Amino acid sequence: MTQISLYNTKTRRKEAFTPLNPDDVRMYVCGPTVYDRAHLGNARPVVVFDVLFRLLRHVYGADHVTYVRNFTDVDDKINARAAATGRPIRDITDETIGWYHDDMDALGTLRPTAEPRATEFIPQMVAMIETLIAQGNAYEAEGHVLFAVESYAKYGALSGRSIDDMIAGARVEVAPYKRNPMDFVLWKPSPDDLPGWDSPWGRGRPGWHIECSAMAFELLGATFDIHGGGIDLQFPHHENEIAQSCCAHPEGGFAQVWLHNEMLQVEGKKMSKSLGNFFTVRDLLDQGVPGEVIRFVMLSTHYRKPMDWTEKKREEAEATLRHWRKLVDGVVPGSPDQEVVETLADDLNTAGALARLHGLAKSVASNPQDAREEEKRVFLASAQFLGILTEELAGWEAVRYVENGGLKVGTAENVAAAIDGYVEQRRLAKLAKNFAEADRIRAALDAAGIILKDGPHGTEWEFGMSVSLSKLEALK
Ligand code: AMP
Ligand code: ZN
Repeated sequence: MTQISLYNTKTRRKEAFTPLNPDDVRMYVCGPTVYDRAHLGNARPVVVFDVLFRLLRHVYGADHVTYVRNFTDVDDKINARAAATGRPIRDITDETIGWYHDDMDALGTLRPTAEPRATEFIPQMVAMIETLIAQGNAYEAEGHVLFAVESYAKYGALSGRSIDDMIAGARVEVAPYKRNPMDFVLWKPSPDDLPGWDSPWGRGRPGWHIECSAMAFELLGATFDIHGGGIDLQFPHHENEIAQSCCAHPEGGFAQVWLHNEMLQVEGKKMSKSLGNFFTVRDLLDQGVPGEVIRFVMLSTHYRKPMDWTEKKREEAEATLRHWRKLVDGVVPGSPDQEVVETLADDLNTAGALARLHGLAKSVASNPQDAREEEKRVFLASAQFLGILTEELAGWEAVRYVENGGLKVGTAENVAAAIDGYVEQRRLAKLAKNFAEADRIRAALDAAGIILKDGPHGTEWEFGMSVSLSKLEALK
């Protein structure tokens, strides 16, 4: 069995991964707050933990891995969106969840085993808060319930900070009813115009952190294997999840291994609306960037390194995938290369796994014909193990992105039909011995990057490495 090793943020070292129960490997990843389209940074943890999910399923069996990723559907940003648009909250969250599924599916990520919505676990949150109060880990003040950080000796252990450092370093909300400035909200009162649920502390709504503790306990138990999310969540969100869960359920240890992905930047800069370099996954897809290309670029950087989205990487990824897709055209996948699997098992070394795929692709090209078929099968299976060259993500390679002002392309079919038409015109020109016209058509197709192959049964064509369909305008 392949031994997976993972860098555990909790212990700050790479450790051999041993599941609590190999028949039921359990992972929780913090999901999105659903009020708007996911931006490209939000997609990074989705792709990273998708790779881990696939690896776990490969090693322990597809039926032996449970992956939970929540939807935060109660939040002040959602309330603000509802107030600004006059739309019901449930409409906004339902629509955003639909978008999220569409956009993340387009990146070839598998749906988690369970995708709980916070609003469906309010009674479990209330029960956990009651336990915390009863044990002296939380207190009620002015309609709020707060977690008392000083009641949990290990508070700060995950991020390696003391409570005093945190107070000095953080811009904490200084509310008069807090015993310690770092105490955080478990429950807060809701006025009539905001979402609220009845509770022992009056009508109110949960603080953000408690939802993950309550849902993880409900769906995965008091202790489970892996907890993931972006590094921005390590403090305070994950620190608070640990405090709540370990105090409410001291019999468990909450997550054994903590994995954090680094942040995504754009052309070397933090992605932000004020810098004008903020875009969503949907923006890219709508511009014609294939989901498979986005996924490839994400895989090319190790998850613990900051990743830079650049135009150059996008172009290179597209060229590579186009080449690889051609290489495996008509190939049936075999089983993945052991080195690819082991490279991934080494703390999700996706960049190393892609390097190995490049090596395999080269070797396919240089081998004799009969050895090639088996190598191609291994190559394809290895790529699919990383979630690329799959059938779901196929199809884009037949359509070129169109130059500005050039021919507008709708679907792969209408491009193909147009090219078929020109090939037919050339045949008719040759038949009529109008060789000048036949040559003119051939030259235009050539210039556009479409390769013609004349054979005994007529002419076949395919896309070359670099295609610009606007050059076909010359034939109009
Ligand atoms: P949010 O909806 O802001 O709570 O974020 C959802 C997920 O996206 C969390 O796991 C965040 O850590 C992650 N995330 C947000 N921004 C970025 C970014 N720029 N790069 C990578 N991950 C991010
Ligand atoms: Zn969380």
